[in-house]
Amino acid sequence: MTRPRFNRILLKLSGEVLMGNSQFGIDTDTVARVAGEIAAARQAGFEICLVIGGGNIFRGMAGAAKGMDRAQADYMGMLATVMNALAMQNALEQLGVQTRVQSAIEMDKVCEPVIRRRAERHLEKGRLVIFAAGVGAPYFTTDSGAALRAAEMKCDAIFKGTSVDGVYDADPKKVKTAKRYETVSFNRVLSDDLKVMDASAVALCRDNNIPIVVFNIREQGNLARVLAGEGVATIVQNEEG
Ligand code: UDP
Repeated sequence: MTRPRFNRILLKLSGEVLMGNSQFGIDTDTVARVAGEIAAARQAGFEICLVIGGGNIFRGMAGAAKGMDRAQADYMGMLATVMNALAMQNALEQLGVQTRVQSAIEMDKVCEPVIRRRAERHLEKGRLVIFAAGVGAPYFTTDSGAALRAAEMKCDAIFKGTSVDGVYDADPKKVKTAKRYETVSFNRVLSDDLKVMDASAVALCRDNNIPIVVFNIREQGNLARVLAGEGVATIVQNEEG
């Protein structure tokens, strides 16, 4: 099936993508490789907004499970996403891609605050905008941040780079017969609790008609393929194909 071609996209990467084969933190070689793929996409003419998670450094839920106050732990998670954003900005700029980081938690020594009109101007000038700190509130995730920024920046689609090649009807690591969807509706994702993004992010995409393309970012060259409407991926959208 050929997928529609998009012009302005929001690329969502989980923090774990930046770990490479490590168990924790930021692997600079991996960041450089992913940055190279993003730079090529920019070169190909896509307008790119980027949201990176923080799970490679800290997740609020993990802190809460060990007895921390959930909101406090979530703020730490949001700060982790800013570190990842700065690492990616560095890697992109080393490749000559002008990049601005806008954080939902203001920290004017290191990045801009989120200002939609300014972000729009950056994109017009060919810059790439990394949105950090999710929605800026605890009890959310960067998936919701991605859905929110995609809606306000009027992105044509969210591309969610993960370590699996799409959305399955069961966990492919546990169920051998699990089947990958080519397309699946937002409502099925929500009713069957399929692991794509958290429910609030999926609902926001559904209500604003923003398709989510789920693909494997660990496979070299895959970003270019899925952006071209080729390669293995699942598209989550309002109509089931
Ligand atoms: N977080 C938050 N509000 C947000 C975005 C993130 O509280 O709007 C916190 C939350 O604790 C989360 C952590 O930041 O666990 C890291 O983000 P996320 O889990 O989305 O990262 P990913 O799984 O994509 O690496």
